[in-house]
Amino acid sequence: MTNRREFILKLVPLAGAAAVLPRVAMAEVPDLTESDPMAIAMGFVLDTTRANQAKYPKHTTEQFCGRCLHFTKPGADKARCDLFNKVVPHHGWCSGFSKRP
Ligand code: SF4
Repeated sequence: MTNRREFILKLVPLAGAAAVLPRVAMAEVPDLTESDPMAIAMGFVLDTTRANQAKYPKHTTEQFCGRCLHFTKPGADKARCDLFNKVVPHHGWCSGFSKRP
């Protein structure tokens, strides 16, 4: 039978791990590269001016990650894209672009 003290002593390390894990997980989110298979499939480029206009005729240079709903930290130079779950630059672009209202 577990008494209250033993129960609390078991919780303390778990609480400490829970506090550290999100920071570790965020630090390990990799950058999205143009050679990533999903990036290729979505026409991702690190710079919106290099988007394939023939393949994506609706693309304009007014569209870039920093203005996209999937860019998780508006105003930052780079942030995690929640479509790829990888870090993308503010001026990147892919065909999943969805304008932030
Ligand atoms: S979904 Fe949006 S934020 Fe993600 S790579 Fe494409 S344009 Fe950038």
